[in-house]
Amino acid sequence: LQLTLAVIKPDAVAHPLILEALHQKILKNKFIIVRSKDLIWRRQDSERFYAEHKGRFFYQRLVEFMSSGPMRAYILARENAISQWRELMGPTKVFRARYIAPGTIRALYGLTDTRNTTHGSDSVESAQREIAFFFPEFSVE
Ligand code: ATP
Ligand code: MG
Repeated sequence: LQLTLAVIKPDAVAHPLILEALHQKILKNKFIIVRSKDLIWRRQDSERFYAEHKGRFFYQRLVEFMSSGPMRAYILARENAISQWRELMGPTKVFRARYIAPGTIRALYGLTDTRNTTHGSDSVESAQREIAFFFPEFSVE
């Protein structure tokens, strides 16, 4: 089974019904929840995690948003977990998601291109890095 790192971002954790709907969606889509935790980032955690986007026009609002309130992180296991979770999320941009992928998480619950409800690793390498970032105590060894 493949592992991925999924995060429910502050906009969705703030709403109990959306948080519960996303948790149920994870279970219904046959993901195994290997670990989960609720956490709040300091601004420096946000800056470190999104270092690859430094300099992009949305970087400041992104790091601000991601350290604005509680998040929930999951290590999920499934066959093709990385692509399956990203397929459930839909495109990054909420209005594009509503247009080309209605029914996806971001189409249903996303507020803006920044406040877009969830994160998912985009490759095996980023999944490893991101799992270690959120769950330093977790090791597959
Ligand atoms: P994520 O990494 O959160 O799973 P993603 O891989 O679909 O999303 P990235 O390109 O990695 O998208 O961007 C990371 C995050 O930065 C996005 O989820 C979104 O919150 C924010 N972001 C990306 N592009 C834009 C944009 N054009 N305008 C505003 N915010 C953006
Ligand atoms: Mg990404």
